[in-house]
Amino acid sequence: MESIYNFTLETLTQHLQTQDCPHPKTAAIRIFHHLYRERKVGPLTEGQISKKAINYLAKSTSFDLAKTISVQESKDFTVKFLIEFCDGERVETVLIPFPGRYAVCISTQVGCAMRCSFCFTGTQGLKRHLTSGEILTQYLIAWEWLECYRPRKAAQPKIVLMGQGEPLHNFEEVKKALLIFVSEQGMQLGTRRITLSTAGYLPGLKRFGELPLINIALSLHSPFNSIRSQIIPLNKSYPLEDILATIDSIPFKGNRAINFEYVLIDGLNNREEDARELAKILLGKKGIINLIPFNGFPGAVYERPSEERMAAFQGILSSLGIHATIRTTKGSDIFAACGQLKHLLEGS
Ligand code: SAH
Repeated sequence: MESIYNFTLETLTQHLQTQDCPHPKTAAIRIFHHLYRERKVGPLTEGQISKKAINYLAKSTSFDLAKTISVQESKDFTVKFLIEFCDGERVETVLIPFPGRYAVCISTQVGCAMRCSFCFTGTQGLKRHLTSGEILTQYLIAWEWLECYRPRKAAQPKIVLMGQGEPLHNFEEVKKALLIFVSEQGMQLGTRRITLSTAGYLPGLKRFGELPLINIALSLHSPFNSIRSQIIPLNKSYPLEDILATIDSIPFKGNRAINFEYVLIDGLNNREEDARELAKILLGKKGIINLIPFNGFPGAVYERPSEERMAAFQGILSSLGIHATIRTTKGSDIFAACGQLKHLLEGS
């Protein structure tokens, strides 16, 4: 059975139309309000939509939300959810505290095909893409938990598509989910509150204009193709200059922002020459630069630089006119920080 969460307003209207349900557009809108505005779980009842629509949906459509297998809370208030879908595949979703409101860090794939050598998820390979419904339900689960357990902090959370997977490698499903997140009849989330992070998957990046006007984050990690290709194999096919040129060509209208993410790995990309070259390629670009301390995981061959070395890297950038912030690591005690999401894909 198709999950109700996999429909956009248009496809749901068509779905109902083919069965001659009365007023399919109105019924689709009611269903959307029920699922995404009121955030109710389970089918609608008579009075909300016609009996014919209810019966048809009962036969053809599942209203099940994914299962929450575990919830872990960090001492810094980060929360990690292990979520299971109907075929038994699992992903992790992280609720991250920020001043003002939380962000939900959402996964877009089970595993990841990019195989970045510094990322725990990447060491696993790709199991499968998530459907738009599976992407959406992670958000619903995290927000519901927030309302229940931290009601005073339950303002509608922001979204960062920075969990497991490469969002632009799963373009169609991510696009569908985004349409529902921002839709007037759906979750009504402002586009400025959504950020998609990419390792530089060029075929998806070239289609970025098809998405709502959300923010983009590029995992840059080295200004040199030789080093970048060593840690992000994708860079061999889509080198940095092509990625940056494509990003430059995206019309960043209104409030859309670009974030450059730079994981600092000791001895690999935090040398003086790295900072100098990085400043060269970023000079004059509009954007926010985040330096992310490398987060370790079992079997990792890399080290996080000392605080002094990270500050020195930041200092060189600053002396060259580039303002960068060092991201505070959150949730590392429960293995919920950047690059630490894996859970046990092998089924254990
Ligand atoms: N595939 C996307 C989104 C997932 S990773 C991407 O590559 O952008 C989200 C962010 O965490 C990326 O910036 C990624 O480079 C970073 N990251 C991955 N592994 C990390 C690690 N071990 N330590 C710190 N950051 C890491």
